[in-house]
Amino acid sequence: MTDIGELLLSRIRDVTDYPEPGVMFKDITPLLADPAAFTALTDALAEIAGRTGATKVVGLEARGFILGAPVAVRAGLGFIPVRKAGKLPGATLAQAYDLEYGSAEIEVHAEDLSAEDRVLVVDDVLATGGTAEASVQLIRRAGAEVAGLAVLMELGFLGGRARLEPALAGAPLEAL
Ligand code: AMP
Repeated sequence: MTDIGELLLSRIRDVTDYPEPGVMFKDITPLLADPAAFTALTDALAEIAGRTGATKVVGLEARGFILGAPVAVRAGLGFIPVRKAGKLPGATLAQAYDLEYGSAEIEVHAEDLSAEDRVLVVDDVLATGGTAEASVQLIRRAGAEVAGLAVLMELGFLGGRARLEPALAGAPLEAL
């Protein structure tokens, strides 16, 4: 593993059976509290934004906001929040997706993305890939191009990468 990978991993706390039995929750709050690790993460994600030619950074609620906003500032790009349904005040585009039990919906302000945009999607953890897949669909429906998806951590055993491949259509998925 790279030095930065080891630094970041050392600042992620595993919490067993949270928020429900059988789930190993990846708690990033120790990383956020460590300025060296948070800066290294921000720099690495901003480098991906530059390399992929992104014009905007989309952060997925809620931890994607914490990671994505400083990346946008560092890369000199606008930040666009993708929120859970019912939180954005303006005209939105919505995308529903299936959860293990039931379904969820995410939204973006329609005016925030256009055909001129190439979007880097940022989140903390890629698990089943359902949230990221819905966000990619939302971005495309808004007329924008997907530059890539960048996450701090990928839980490989859940198969998110394979699920996302068709939606990403060649755009890179980078897990630090
Ligand atoms: P998914 O749609 O299954 O890929 O889930 C991704 C979203 O759920 C991300 O926004 C993560 O913040 C959160 N998430 C899923 N599994 C975990 C986990 N084990 N630890 C921390 N966050 C998780």
